[in-house]
Amino acid sequence: MAIKTIEKVLAPPAPHMVGDGFRVHSFLPGDGRLGKQRMSPFFMLDYNSLVEFPPTDTPRGVGVHPHRGFETVTIAYKGRIAHHDSAGHHGVIGEGEVQWMTAASGLLHKEYHEESFSKQGGPFQMVQLWVNLPAKHKMDPPAYQEITHSMMGRYTLPDQNGIVEVIAGNCKGVAGPARTFTPIEMYNLKLQAGAVLQLDFPASHNTAFLMIEGTAEINGTAIEPDHFVLFQHDGDTIQVRATTEVVILALSGEPIHEPIAAYGPFLMNQWSEIEQAIQDFNTGKFGVLAD
Ligand code: MN
Repeated sequence: MAIKTIEKVLAPPAPHMVGDGFRVHSFLPGDGRLGKQRMSPFFMLDYNSLVEFPPTDTPRGVGVHPHRGFETVTIAYKGRIAHHDSAGHHGVIGEGEVQWMTAASGLLHKEYHEESFSKQGGPFQMVQLWVNLPAKHKMDPPAYQEITHSMMGRYTLPDQNGIVEVIAGNCKGVAGPARTFTPIEMYNLKLQAGAVLQLDFPASHNTAFLMIEGTAEINGTAIEPDHFVLFQHDGDTIQVRATTEVVILALSGEPIHEPIAAYGPFLMNQWSEIEQAIQDFNTGKFGVLAD
């Protein structure tokens, strides 16, 4: 077992607003620093670091918009998010929960702070990933997976000082519930101070950690909160030692070796498919969703 070398540790880039509800650091594709393929199949990673939203009667968020060619995966760490889409799916993503939306051939959706959370205000922290689909599945029908906390796989460290919540893939024999189109591991590591954990990922996979909360030594390097740790392809093992109580999002996936044509909310292989998506959107083929 060889250790995966840390390739880069990225501090959170300056945040920007998505609509009026999400204050995000875009680690991926990240203004060219990492490139569109470096973390394939993960194309985009928007991280809303912990922020306090004041109470409001008008929920903050993002209005109706389309997606085609990929999946949006939303993980709520603090606060609650409501979702509606033109395929008829509706849900609330509560703290610790995940929504895995397969846009594929296309739909319209809107993403808002949940109503009672908005009225109350409070701490808000979330991640949205865009997971690319292989060409042969880009025009599949849309789908929706609501992954509640109790559905996640749960691996408990031998000395009971931490757990791994398995959203997708498999950790030490514990499987996660998400249905994925390509091999993906997605875990929350929730460790107490002093806990030590060794994780194995295939060397060929693209692998990164996002520090949600607390500090840890990863392969012996101290990593601060809200930082993104990218690993090389030179080994298969990562060692984590929690220096405080920590929450870490672990991402690993088999790269999709296909061209990327990305424009706004569309993620396809060829530019002609982007033009088709724009035309289909303009002619109402993504369905109907009220504001
Ligand atoms: Mn969206």
